[in-house]
Amino acid sequence: MRLILMGPPGAGKGTQAARVAARYDVPAISTGDIFRANVAAATPLGISAKAYMDAGEYVPDELTDALVRDRLSQPDCERGFLLDGYPRTTAQVTELDAILSDIGSRLDAVVVLEADQQQLVERLLNRAQVEGRSDDTEDVIRRRLEVYAQETAPLIDLYAARGLTEHVDGIGRVDDITDLINAAVDRRTSALDSDAMTG
Ligand code: AMP
Repeated sequence: MRLILMGPPGAGKGTQAARVAARYDVPAISTGDIFRANVAAATPLGISAKAYMDAGEYVPDELTDALVRDRLSQPDCERGFLLDGYPRTTAQVTELDAILSDIGSRLDAVVVLEADQQQLVERLLNRAQVEGRSDDTEDVIRRRLEVYAQETAPLIDLYAARGLTEHVDGIGRVDDITDLINAAVDRRTSALDSDAMTG
């Protein structure tokens, strides 16, 4: 099972990614978590990434792509994976296509979690109090939503054109949203199965 979970900051991707990945017994790979771990450990990657993250900007594609290529080559990804927060730019889509083609594989579904802007800002401000993330201040939150709208939202059309997207309402009870995502993935994978049967 090879999945992408897409959606604006604050839509609940991280929470849902862990649950959905567990259901399919594949690793949930969050580029944001990997960057944060590198910042915490002050690795060269973390030191390069920190200023971008704190400003709400994307880390450059070269750094992000190299990290994902390396992570997807680990043995635990052979059976599949769930990507949370990657790809976020058209260049990253191209890189992911190349990685998948190198390993002779393809995506099964792109799940898009949806939420309106005001709710996202409230959730992120709330999370700032709970988790104390350095990129959860109001100005940076607005910038992250802007960058998402400019750079990442257009990718939804790109994957829709490939027939891979399923939209799920990201507002509601966490368990209900998980059920909706699971149903959406089942729909996509059965659509792919029937495509394969009809050629
Ligand atoms: P997230 O936890 O997914 O919201 O990511 C936190 C921050 O990490 C983002 O605001 C970016 O600065 C950086 N980041 C995470 N994933 C990517 C990506 N695919 N491309 C560029 N920057 C990323």
